[in-house]
Amino acid sequence: MQDIPFNQPSLVGNEITYLKEAIERGQLSGDGYFTKRCNKLIENLTTAPSALLTHSCTAALEMAAILCDLQPGDEVIMPSFTFVSTANAVVLRGAIPVFVDIDAQTLNIDPKKVAASVNDRTRAIFAVHYAGFPADMEPLAQIARENNLILVEDAAQALGSTYKGKMCGSLGDMAAFSFHETKNLISGEGGALTINRPELIERAEIIREKGTNRSRFIRGQVDKYTWVDIGSSFLPGELVASFLCAQLEMADEINAKRLAIFERYQKAFRQLEMEGRVQMPVVPENTTGNGHMFYLLLRDAKDRDQFISHMRTAGIITPFHYIPLHSAPAGMKYGQIGRADNDLPITNAVSDRLVRLPVFFGLGTQIETVVSIALKHFR
Ligand SMILES: *Cc1c(COP(=O)(O)O)cnc(C)c1O
Repeated sequence: MQDIPFNQPSLVGNEITYLKEAIERGQLSGDGYFTKRCNKLIENLTTAPSALLTHSCTAALEMAAILCDLQPGDEVIMPSFTFVSTANAVVLRGAIPVFVDIDAQTLNIDPKKVAASVNDRTRAIFAVHYAGFPADMEPLAQIARENNLILVEDAAQALGSTYKGKMCGSLGDMAAFSFHETKNLISGEGGALTINRPELIERAEIIREKGTNRSRFIRGQVDKYTWVDIGSSFLPGELVASFLCAQLEMADEINAKRLAIFERYQKAFRQLEMEGRVQMPVVPENTTGNGHMFYLLLRDAKDRDQFISHMRTAGIITPFHYIPLHSAPAGMKYGQIGRADNDLPITNAVSDRLVRLPVFFGLGTQIETVVSIALKHFR
């Protein structure tokens, strides 16, 4: 039997045609024809007033951290249960990630823990939409308003998800998306920053273009461009943008396919969940997901590790994550635990118990093999 990977990139439409067109158009550097088309498509998909393509979500988070004007010693509240880039963006500015626990049902940042961790040095909240399910943004926005904090969405996994009828990427002051090949829409490496506060847009363009006002120059608003602020090279080239453009055009189809996979897994494990043997993702009230991920929470670390090796023996790759950032070497060095907790018990337990099943566009009838072999673990 052939191995079933956890993830596999797929061509879904016009990728090759657009790559060829990008080459024929004669501009391979960034901010050309396809980058503009991608920005527009992302604005449409998120309803954000401005989207800027970046070379990764990591880059978009770093831009967001610069736009927050973080100073050394400033604090940013975030979950510990996230990818390293959420925290690195803050640490690179000399600021301190303050890790708080997640909600046991949604695995998203717990607004009560956020509220308890705000102090005079807090500047921002970085909320992650885990597994593509939106964090509870309304209470977070209220905490941000009351304390004059910037609210950033780490929407790496959440393109197309909605919260109370609004799109992820339009909920915070800014949002960072990923088009890494493990996400729903892909360009190998890739990302975008959406900006919902109009007064931040011009500075975002400058930061993304190495601290120059080149974007205004290209639009003919200034007659030469120069170094005006800090920045870096956060933009992708046109080859990446052309590939991504084809994927963005198929966003609805890609997400629908993944949601169908998600629902197949839900159906397969419902009985075990009712017996209390496993926990499946809980779709938070008034939200819709995008089928980014399907996970199971098993009994404990031993049960989870046995599940993973059982699946591996059958050639099926089912990874766990995350090592909680507050317990990682760099997390202990650069971050701290929030003021509501001494430790983060839910984060620790979820990290021990979680396993992810294969979800990708090209996963066809193989899903039935995944399901039947997975169910054997419980018999
Ligand atoms: C994937 C991911 C990132 C990083 O995305 P890149 O595009 O690989 O830089 C950041 N945060 C979260 C929550 C992610 O899932």
